[in-house]
Amino acid sequence: MEFVVAALFGVLFGNYATTYYHRIPLRKPINGLSKKKGQVPHCSVCGHSLKFYEYFPVLSWIFTRGKCNYCGVKIDPVYAILEISTMFFAILLYIARGIDLLFPSCLLLICSLNLLFALYYKHSKFYRQVVVVSILLAVIIFWQLHYEFT
Ligand SMILES: [Zn+2]
Repeated sequence: MEFVVAALFGVLFGNYATTYYHRIPLRKPINGLSKKKGQVPHCSVCGHSLKFYEYFPVLSWIFTRGKCNYCGVKIDPVYAILEISTMFFAILLYIARGIDLLFPSCLLLICSLNLLFALYYKHSKFYRQVVVVSILLAVIIFWQLHYEFT
């Protein structure tokens, strides 16, 4: 059961990372998942808003066959790769340590590093805000480890 929870957290965190992956280079606000402020999930080319199953992590890849259902543009495979790789690391983390206080902070760091390299792969630059968040998370984890073992 905990195994499933860990995998689900991985997919959800990975899915959240794709929002940043899309929006940081465009300097769009990050609050878009709430429908009141910002935008609902939408196709970045034709702007058509997406139905629930069209942006659901990983499964959306099956329902849309890697293309937008409205304009047919190919969806960047990095979205699915971010979700699947974060899930994979979440499972590894669970196998290594189980779910403890380090799980959320380690998963966030994994997410942040995944995002950093995905953005580097796409745009050939490291985004300062993602580097800063990664360093902060690493500091938090070192602090947690120190606290745990002394
Ligand atoms: Zn479209």
